Amino acid sequence: MSKIHVMSDALANKIAAGEVVEKVSSVVKELCENSLDAKAKTILVSLEDGGLKKIEVQDDGEGMDHEDALLAFQPHATSKLIKEDDLFFIDTLGFRGEALPSIASVSDVLLKTSNGGIGTTLEMKGGKLIKEEDSDSRIGTSITVTDLFYNTPARLKYLKTEASELSSCVSLIERLALSHDTVSFTLKNNDRVLVKTTGSGNLHKCIHEIYGLTVSSKMLEIKKSNDDFDVYGYVCKPEILKSNRNHFITMVNDRVIKNYDINRAINDAYYTYKPDTKYPIVILKINTDPTLIDVNIHPTKQDIKLSKIEALYDLIYTGIKEVLYKNLLIPDAVKKPEYNEIKEEYVTQFIKENESVDDTYKESNQVTLDLSYEEEKESPIVINEEMKKLVLYPVGVALGTYIIAQNEEGVYLIDQHAAQERVNYERYLKALKESKTSSIGLLFPITIELSSSEFLIVKNNLQVLQDLGFQVEEFGMNTFVFKEHPTWLKSGYEEESIHKILDILIENNGAFDRVKFNEHIAITLACKMSIKANMHISNEAVEELLNELVLCDNPYNCPHGRPTIIKFSIYDLERMFKRVMN
Ligand code: ZN
Ligand code: ZN
Repeated sequence: MSKIHVMSDALANKIAAGEVVEKVSSVVKELCENSLDAKAKTILVSLEDGGLKKIEVQDDGEGMDHEDALLAFQPHATSKLIKEDDLFFIDTLGFRGEALPSIASVSDVLLKTSNGGIGTTLEMKGGKLIKEEDSDSRIGTSITVTDLFYNTPARLKYLKTEASELSSCVSLIERLALSHDTVSFTLKNNDRVLVKTTGSGNLHKCIHEIYGLTVSSKMLEIKKSNDDFDVYGYVCKPEILKSNRNHFITMVNDRVIKNYDINRAINDAYYTYKPDTKYPIVILKINTDPTLIDVNIHPTKQDIKLSKIEALYDLIYTGIKEVLYKNLLIPDAVKKPEYNEIKEEYVTQFIKENESVDDTYKESNQVTLDLSYEEEKESPIVINEEMKKLVLYPVGVALGTYIIAQNEEGVYLIDQHAAQERVNYERYLKALKESKTSSIGLLFPITIELSSSEFLIVKNNLQVLQDLGFQVEEFGMNTFVFKEHPTWLKSGYEEESIHKILDILIENNGAFDRVKFNEHIAITLACKMSIKANMHISNEAVEELLNELVLCDNPYNCPHGRPTIIKFSIYDLERMFKRVMN
């Protein structure tokens, strides 16, 4: 019996709006997903000129017989969905089946496939079959797409430059490879290998193959379970953050998905470990009972809805927090260039090179892949508890801003503002978390006048202020009087601090969760109360600050996520001064 079924129109319509093929990477994505559905173990994607000239996807999947090959180009043909109820479960990767006919309608497609018997070759142009013949019986499928959008000039116009199409293909294949570590992916452009994974089934090794050693040695394993969810994967240390979110890869039951709450859990877990504009590399595999998943929201957009999402949020949030807490290291001052950076540069440069440069130049610029992988190469992980024993001996302060310190391992630079901010932040946060706050009376009560809208918000949230340890009352028109304040407010800065806290309360308009409110207060006050750059700091204060810093839960970042401390190891220094070679 044929494996491909023609689905009903009703179902076709249900698959919301249909997948639109709009760029090279969407063609590559559809073809690769078909290969994965066909249980391929090896997928080779070969592009010419970033795919604008030619896209070829070859796999060693189970292939199709003659009948299925023909059916694959019929609209509404799908091997993935048989009855409407199946939409409820995510057991297979794709939802489509529309992809091949849509691609074929706007390009030339050459299909070669065999499931072990006599193979089939089909050639389609603008959606019409123009050639059909037997071919060899190598098991698997290869699809070659040329002249994309030749008959739809409007779409053709929207194809981006070669470099930009290529870079989205690179990031697509990286994501696919990371989410299918048992499948070997290769991406080539004009015969240069840009991505290559071995399909070893070892996620860490796959990360190494995609990002190189610099990243793979800084990934931390996470493994957490509760009654409904198993979470497994890797998250990066805050020192190798990326400037976009493309490096969040989350899978539920082996399907790559996007889910707002999962992303929020990741972001919240990295809160204060990173600046707002930077994003971690996170690869998470989540397994759960398929009945907890509702895919009907919008199957083509990778969006899914999960029951018991709060439990999953907590699991991911605490899992990442724990692993970050246990495994932080002071970032090294000396960084080796990453393979990934070289690759990105290549992608943006490649057009010029290809047009004007001879082969010898190309040879010397060949992007070489180092796939050698040994777990032992990982830098040893130092847990936070050990760092708390770290002793830093101050040497002096440079540029009025950076404390220089040393110990038997090397030389450290510490940003005096960032370091003190971290110390104060943890102190405030701890004080705020304490259920019983101790308060102290003000000799001269502080009155604060607000606008009437602000006054109303504060009035509705007086309990919040009382919980923090303030004794506060209404005092005439739009005014409050503060008679007691919590002991942790820095003396001399009481009024300023109260203003800051009221600002935060008003900004949140009462709609906040308590944990975030406390964190916000702690960050704001910590920044305000910390010594600024270019402000003189005494030797005793330096010593005290260093001692307090190493005792912090996270001594390595200020609460805004910037680094507090950078290390030059003795080896780095010797290498820089060429006392040692290599
Ligand atoms: Zn600050
Ligand atoms: Zn800061």
